[in-house]
Amino acid sequence: MYSVTDPATGELIEEIPNATDDDVLAAVGRVDRAYTSWRRRPVAERAAIALRAAELFAERADELAAIMTLEMGKRINEGRGEVGIVRDIFEYYGTHGPELLADEPLTLKTGEAAVAKEPIGALLGIMPWNFPCYQVARFVAPNLVLGNTILLKHASICPRSALAIERILHEAGVPEDAYVNVFASSRQVPWMLADPRIKGVSLTGSEQAGISVAAEAGRNLKRAVLELGGSDPLIVLDTDDMDETVKATATARMRNCGQSCNAPKRMIVMGDIYEDFVEGITKRVADYYQPGDPADPATKLPPLASVAAADEVAAQVRTAVDQGATLRTGGNRNGPGAYLEATVLTDVTPEMDAYYEEIFGPVVLVFRAETEEEAIEIANDSPFGLGAAVFGTDPARNRRVADRIEAGMVYLNKSGGSVADLPFGGIKRSGMGRELGALGIEEFMNKKSIRL
Ligand code: NDP
Repeated sequence: MYSVTDPATGELIEEIPNATDDDVLAAVGRVDRAYTSWRRRPVAERAAIALRAAELFAERADELAAIMTLEMGKRINEGRGEVGIVRDIFEYYGTHGPELLADEPLTLKTGEAAVAKEPIGALLGIMPWNFPCYQVARFVAPNLVLGNTILLKHASICPRSALAIERILHEAGVPEDAYVNVFASSRQVPWMLADPRIKGVSLTGSEQAGISVAAEAGRNLKRAVLELGGSDPLIVLDTDDMDETVKATATARMRNCGQSCNAPKRMIVMGDIYEDFVEGITKRVADYYQPGDPADPATKLPPLASVAAADEVAAQVRTAVDQGATLRTGGNRNGPGAYLEATVLTDVTPEMDAYYEEIFGPVVLVFRAETEEEAIEIANDSPFGLGAAVFGTDPARNRRVADRIEAGMVYLNKSGGSVADLPFGGIKRSGMGRELGALGIEEFMNKKSIRL
């Protein structure tokens, strides 16, 4: 069942039944049939449609933000910001698509050749609720410009976002059958992947969903892009402005109520500044991040996306404390709705669950490192490898540390966030493949060698 439940109140607003197997089959047929004519359209036409979509997303920012606030509790201003990035993504691929898809000439020992950049067919996208518009855009914009068609299964708590996105794309000029939203259940995903008409799959979501989708994709020899969880380290080597460092790190952690795959979740701070940092971030988290209505632009801490998510994060915090971690502030659920106090934990050790698991909510973990070497060791002691950040006053030292971190992305003196032209993705259990930038259009591409 797809449903809309207001996380601020817990009120059920709407329920939408899952698509039947016949509905799903029909949807697969539509995106497959649309592929031939969509890929034959000149790249310039598909790019122009992406540019039109960028404009429409910008025009509908308020409407989309309000939907996200209702469906998953996003702060209204953050929702508008998210749609701004969506606009940038469509604009990026609309503008640069033609040059990214141009033939790449090759001079061989034996003559001339080229690599042509072609689409591969109908793709399945499985998307999560934490950034209902941005996650879809990352997958859809490059692939539509490339000439693939798309069947989209959104998270079951975001049906209105799913429909609003579909409407915008169709209005922008994407043929109705080249982008199809389907309210499929996870149960239907394996046989969608087994269907020869689906040529690849992109999933953003949990590790568990990633494992299951990657297994099915592998069984059917289909390409898969996986953008999964993370427990990103943020190393603070030194600072000449502790207040600013605390503010920047807290802001990055609390963005989207802590529900970002690439939020810094583990702050690793050098011993000589550790106490000051812990004191500063505890105060900042306790004072600044007061819960409120996500529809009110003044609110700093919205609810989590669902009561179940809030209960789960609260349970993770409780377990950490039971296992010996120190709770500096927060940790309590307060309702009605999916609210959880902004939380700071310290003294988390490798024996505790919280050391290795992802905590997908407003919870800061602070670790102490006595040496640069130890900071790098803690940073890399994680099953995940999505993003990371290094804060410090010496650019050469920041870069030296960054080079030794096992992650798909490292930010220096800033943290988190995402821009259209910078590739995004992880290693280890954070997934595989890249989205955004020039690399993001290559994942579902047939790089066809042409011997001239
Ligand atoms: P899920 O991974 O369950 O949901 C993401 C998407 O995957 C949804 O569309 C979901 O569908 C679908 N899905 C779930 N299981 C399967 C499956 N076996 N086969 C195919 N599709 C599947 O995320 P949750 O909502 O359960 O969140 C749990 C955790 O996942 C979070 O706490 C966080 O750690 C991580 N997560 C990471 C995200 C990221 O940005 N990397 C985003 C969201 C979650 P449906 O909604 O119908 O179940």
